[in-house]
Amino acid sequence: MTQSSTTADAGAPLAQGGTGIRIDGLTKTFAASRGRSVTALHDTDLHTDQGSFLALLGPSGCGKSTILRILADLETPTTGQVRVDGKTPHELRASGELGIAFQDHALLPWRSVRSNIRLPFEVARRPVDDAYIDELIALVGLQGFEKSRPAQLSGGMRQRVSIARALAL
Ligand code: ADP
Ligand code: MG
Repeated sequence: MTQSSTTADAGAPLAQGGTGIRIDGLTKTFAASRGRSVTALHDTDLHTDQGSFLALLGPSGCGKSTILRILADLETPTTGQVRVDGKTPHELRASGELGIAFQDHALLPWRSVRSNIRLPFEVARRPVDDAYIDELIALVGLQGFEKSRPAQLSGGMRQRVSIARALAL
């Protein structure tokens, strides 16, 4: 994303305390082979409203995954500011408010559907909310498959387990 892309209130002041996603002046440079570097994001702005759905579209390699990985605290910006509801990605992740459904579903193959969706509770050492897990399984249309392992599911079903797991906390 070598151009600034801004939805809604262009030119709004820097994000602290606002709601939704507030990305301002985000640049990410990766070290590449033979001492070269790749600028995946250059001075990118992105503002969304709380509760909105956002899709990033663009050609392969334009920086979509990098922006998501920075939002998810899996990469750090080279420069720029990133806030979600006024919090940094690190703060969001630390407080368990962030869910990620990875492009490759990243399910644990030895665990059942239900057990994969329980995982975020276990990792966060929170009491497992079984009623909510039932709701999530219904939400993604996987009733009847609670005891199935990922290898017994279609690719789309695995992705739906991954989405339910991302929503668990
Ligand atoms: P997209 O998801 O839009 O296809 P990416 O965000 O994955 O693109 O990648 C954007 C650019 O950054 C690409 O040129 C890619 O090669 C580079 N890139 C992404 N991650 C790394 C990394 N960890 N190290 C080096 N270069 C990277
Ligand atoms: Mg990608």
